Amino acid sequence: MSISTKSESKDLKGLSLIAAHSHISGLGLDDQLQPKESAQGMVGQLKARKAAGVILKMVQAGRIAGRAVLVAGPPSTGKTAIAMGLSQTLGSEVPFTAISGSEIFSLDISKTESLTQAFRKSIGIRIKEETEIIEGEVVEIQIDRSITGGHKQGKLTIKTTDMETIYELGNKMIEGLTKEKVLAGDVVSIDKASGKISKLGRSFTRARDYDAMGPETKFVQCPEGELQKRKEVVHTVSLHEIDVINSRQQGFLALFSGDTGEIQAEVRDQINTKVAEWKEEGKAEIVPGVLFIDEVHMLDIECFSFINRALEDEFAPIVMMATNRGLSKIRGTNYKAPHGLPMDLLDRSIIIHTAPYSADEINTILSIRATEEEAELAPDALALLTKIGQETSLRYASNLIAVSQQIAIKRRSSTIELTDVKRAYMLFLDSDRSVQYVEEFSSQYLDDNGVAFTEKME
Ligand code: ATP
Repeated sequence: MSISTKSESKDLKGLSLIAAHSHISGLGLDDQLQPKESAQGMVGQLKARKAAGVILKMVQAGRIAGRAVLVAGPPSTGKTAIAMGLSQTLGSEVPFTAISGSEIFSLDISKTESLTQAFRKSIGIRIKEETEIIEGEVVEIQIDRSITGGHKQGKLTIKTTDMETIYELGNKMIEGLTKEKVLAGDVVSIDKASGKISKLGRSFTRARDYDAMGPETKFVQCPEGELQKRKEVVHTVSLHEIDVINSRQQGFLALFSGDTGEIQAEVRDQINTKVAEWKEEGKAEIVPGVLFIDEVHMLDIECFSFINRALEDEFAPIVMMATNRGLSKIRGTNYKAPHGLPMDLLDRSIIIHTAPYSADEINTILSIRATEEEAELAPDALALLTKIGQETSLRYASNLIAVSQQIAIKRRSSTIELTDVKRAYMLFLDSDRSVQYVEEFSSQYLDDNGVAFTEKME
């Protein structure tokens, strides 16, 4: 079977996890990988960020594949933020996949298929290919239309400083040339295998013509030597993308809809063999990326044993997990364990702890978030938000920024004042007050069986 690695998709990443972290552009470390107090949108949490810096080094050196990292700490202490910072620092060439533990459970595909896809999305294959191209200056394009208008034929005359050749053109090439608006005097490069045409610029010999010239016209030399050349190109795709492109019932369109369904094990086996071959032959390089699983305690014992095994696979990414649970039940069992994770998986993991923030840190993070959301906070409004952040959670205080901004806009003020924050706090409950409310008014709610407390009394 021949394996294709070409698709037109861009890497599709979960957007919802990212919006709350849009202010983060890295881990905020200096050249020695020491965390700065506040940099790249990251504030405080120095120990955990320093540990993430060590992991970053190991990822870059390709020395950590097959291991797991657990980030554990109370809610809103920046576990996800640190993973996002790590992903940004690694750059776009290293695949980073973020999922939440609860996403694994779906009716369409099994838990293990979901996890397999997430694992394979996190492994990049950098492929080196030699392609044949035709590069030269266009002398003439001649297109003959048939009388019915349907079928087109044509000829392309193209030259280098040393030679000139005429190529017959089919429908597809004619369309390509028309789409790129190629004219005589343009220097073009044509990929022989795919027929893709790229315009490199206009030939210097045509610098005097002022037809078809915009202010941004780029001039290039007419190429020398042979018209046909070999060129090395490098592109990176994820193992999952190769799976989808080569799984017959899916096709690459599935990458756009995100609906890939189950992929047959045989397809994956063939791809693994092929990729291993390419690696041997020096045609491909494996780039282990990062798979981030938020709320990992939502997975069950079957998923955990799958992860344990998958970590030993020859193509394994770094698995980074986050949890805010202390001692809790492992789902699917009756046992309690630290962080709700089985001991064998905990044993393999490097554990990073995050700690609650100080008032100053909360203050800085909230003002960074306000700038990110283009909200202007009066000093006393920021002080109150900070206090709320300390007493409830950073996430709740951060959510109040947008609400307070709406309240401020309603009274036609561009600045969020103390009163706006107070009103937002009264309108929207934080989790503690919500629990208190439910307890107080439990008689008005339905229970697990859908029966109202008051009905039961009758
Ligand atoms: P949970 O356990 O509830 O999932 P978490 O530990 O993953 O929480 P985050 O989602 O990372 O918490 O943090 C909550 C919000 O605070 C996010 O918007 C995040 O970007 C921001 N934040 C957290 N820590 C930092 C930090 N050190 N620097 C800048 N922003 C931060």
